[in-house]
Amino acid sequence: MAARITVIGAGVIGLSCAVRLAEAGHQVDVMAREMPLETTSAVAGGLWQPFLAEPADLVNRWARSTYQAFAELSDDHDRTGVFQRPGYLLGLPERPTFADGLPVGLTPISHPHPDHRSGWHLTVPIVDMSLYLPYLVERLEAAGGTLTRMPLTALPTRGLVVNCTGLASRALAADPTVYPVRGQVLRMSNPGISEWWADDTDPDTLTYVLPQSRFIVVGGTAQVDDFETTPDEKLGAEILERAQRLVPALTRATVLSHRVGLRPGRPKIRLETVKGADGTIVHCYGHGGSGVTLSWGCADDVLAEVSQLA
Ligand SMILES: Cc1cc2nc3c(=O)[nH]c(=O)nc-3n(C[C@H](O)[C@H](O)[C@H](O)COP(=O)(O)OP(=O)(O)OC[C@H]3O[C@@H](n4cnc5c(N)ncnc54)[C@H](O)[C@@H]3O)c2cc1C
Repeated sequence: MAARITVIGAGVIGLSCAVRLAEAGHQVDVMAREMPLETTSAVAGGLWQPFLAEPADLVNRWARSTYQAFAELSDDHDRTGVFQRPGYLLGLPERPTFADGLPVGLTPISHPHPDHRSGWHLTVPIVDMSLYLPYLVERLEAAGGTLTRMPLTALPTRGLVVNCTGLASRALAADPTVYPVRGQVLRMSNPGISEWWADDTDPDTLTYVLPQSRFIVVGGTAQVDDFETTPDEKLGAEILERAQRLVPALTRATVLSHRVGLRPGRPKIRLETVKGADGTIVHCYGHGGSGVTLSWGCADDVLAEVSQLA
């Protein structure tokens, strides 16, 4: 039965859930303090790769469903912003298992770069968030859904609500286990780099170069419990230096902006239905560094939760 559903949050999680629900025939209204291109999701590198998210079994399942959805969307990449790109995952001596069974063409590489001894070559989706988030809004509206800017001081207690407020769930869902993992990146022009690089050797100073399409996202950091949203100039210069050492072709690129996003960290992603006296809330938040990677898998499970209620 079709239900009227309010989704709170217009990042990649809120919009993916809203699209799944609206395309299944529900009447969906999205309300959000920040519009899609103002969210943490808009800062993301958009690489399909699980990072800083638990629990592992669900993360693997959600990542695989999302991979399948992205593989289809990449057929129309200029419209959707989803590209399949080959790239290098460095600093992982063990074979990564997250892509087992998927057609990513995982092959070991030795000496991919003078600073690194081990790594993997694989082809996975990269999402240009500046195209993808507006594409999701277009799909939501085509399915009859709405998007409204609306800062809330509390989650609605009436009706059927899906809470996708990321880090803000710390206050809105009174959940002190949610914490920020600050990420600082540079947005750069693309001088023709088509492969991506991600060096996970040191999780505190991640170095990645992710050519989305028009822009390259260059990072980064993972600063736990840091709420600072203003870019740090010195840190920006350090990130650029690290990235240029990894990918020398970057010296031909221009820095367009410095950006910061606060990843919604949580010991485990919360995907859970809570029934109240007058309403029901389906929580879906705490995706850490993997919100893009897990988005469709989580949206499928939110739809399943709602289908059981309706
Ligand atoms: C630098 C960086 C790089 C990243 N790279 C990747 C990557 O390569 N791959 C990947 O998978 N993930 C990546 N991530 C992680 C990813 O960005 C997050 O996991 C994801 O954005 C979380 O999405 P979300 O929709 O839950 O939250 P958000 O994008 O933060 O959206 C939350 C929404 O809730 C709304 N909201 C909050 N409070 C209120 C309120 N009071 N009232 C109404 N609305 C409210 C906000 O306005 C917003 O619309 C990266 C993150 C960062 C910072």
